[in-house]
Amino acid sequence: MERTFVLVKPDGVQRGLIGEVIARLEKRGLKLTAAKFLAVSNDLAEKHYAVHKGKDFYPGLIRYITSAPVMAMVWEGTNAVAVVRQTMGATRPWEAAPGSIRHDFALEVGRNLTHASDSVENAQAEIALWFSPTELVEWQRCSDDWIFGKN
Ligand code: GDP
Ligand code: MG
Repeated sequence: MERTFVLVKPDGVQRGLIGEVIARLEKRGLKLTAAKFLAVSNDLAEKHYAVHKGKDFYPGLIRYITSAPVMAMVWEGTNAVAVVRQTMGATRPWEAAPGSIRHDFALEVGRNLTHASDSVENAQAEIALWFSPTELVEWQRCSDDWIFGKN
């Protein structure tokens, strides 16, 4: 089953939206594999956002993600990477589809509440960066057959 990495970023935590994000992912049918609440070190922030190093918004992005705790999670399900990106909405909240989290709760690209991996390959790298293998929980959900079932 495909897995993806999700963060409720500091603004989401401060605004009391952890539960809202989790509720939307749960209701969509995705299955929680791992979660932890933590303060992000500068080192972890720089590794996570290495692809953006050198861009004009990079220093502000590092300040943003290290400014308060985050909720880090791994979710799994059919096409998890794509469907979680869709549930989060476009990076720029004013371009996000109605009904998406960034549409419904955000205005600024620099305060857009969540992170979600943008490819299966990056998801694997981000999961490995944020979680140790023993923190990933394999479990049977009683609704698995009703959500993942093919017939
Ligand atoms: P994401 O994958 O949708 O989160 O977007 P990106 O990977 O392109 O960018 C990472 C994060 O950097 C975004 O979620 C924003 O918080 C921030 N960011 C991206 N572009 C801009 C920008 O033009 N200005 C500012 N201030 N922040 C940006
Ligand atoms: Mg990204």
